[in-house]
Amino acid sequence: MNWLHSIGLKACVVLGLTAISMHSSFAQQAPKSSEAKTEVLWLGQAGFRIKTPGGQNIVIDPWLTGGPKTPAPYKTDIVALGKVDLLLVTHAHVDHIGDAPALAKLHKTVLYGPADMITPLITLGVMPAELTHRFNKTGSVKPLPGIKVTAVQAEHSSLLVWKNPATEKLESHPAGEAVGYIIELENGFKIWHMGDTGLFGDMKFITERYKPDLVLMPIGGNFTMDPEDAAFAARNWIKPKMVIPIHYNSNPLAKGTLEEFQNAMKGSKVKVVPMTEGQTLAF
Ligand SMILES: [Zn+2]
Repeated sequence: MNWLHSIGLKACVVLGLTAISMHSSFAQQAPKSSEAKTEVLWLGQAGFRIKTPGGQNIVIDPWLTGGPKTPAPYKTDIVALGKVDLLLVTHAHVDHIGDAPALAKLHKTVLYGPADMITPLITLGVMPAELTHRFNKTGSVKPLPGIKVTAVQAEHSSLLVWKNPATEKLESHPAGEAVGYIIELENGFKIWHMGDTGLFGDMKFITERYKPDLVLMPIGGNFTMDPEDAAFAARNWIKPKMVIPIHYNSNPLAKGTLEEFQNAMKGSKVKVVPMTEGQTLAF
């Protein structure tokens, strides 16, 4: 715990991410002390729980019960994740939508996702409409006090595989377009969860428009950027204060490694913050 705490403090000191340096219109709405930290828990693959400085829990792409690297106790007990104030899903692939419908129903929490991913969830009877919110790329929502989420482009696909209870057979349904999310917290700290994405030039536009502090960036390759592509984007286009590599180590086809990414980032001013599944870091 001390180690985690010290990492968090170090990150804040190194990057100057003090409450004073992060003025924004949202700071005034923060329900709790602006000195509070943002706690980031990696649930494996693209799954995260972000505890905001205001004490609100945001869960993104929770592939828990089916994920090969889901940390205990979440793999067998989704209740252990605690209260979920906001659910975000980037696209319908199973390693992203995962347990999100179950969590939404468990906590009576609204599931936010790409409009055309949400619609089949409703029409197929997976989700009640009142527990969903449809939005789309560059659309913004303010789902919680002091929290703003903007959907942004991801260069990827989205398909929902659903077991029809009447036939017991798997069906494939179109599920809109994959997105990433810019998540602005109460103190102005901005996290870009890129979702699954390949390299695309408008990462430069997204950076210019939204100025993310911390980027959760897929590096596994095959389905997404590989370590070389991810490093190219981080070094040349996005240049955030910090990058957490994600979406590797959980699928045999996504062979990109943390070590390859770290090597490709050598000499860059961007701080690579490696995590292990189940670890929590404070920023
Ligand atoms: Zn995907």
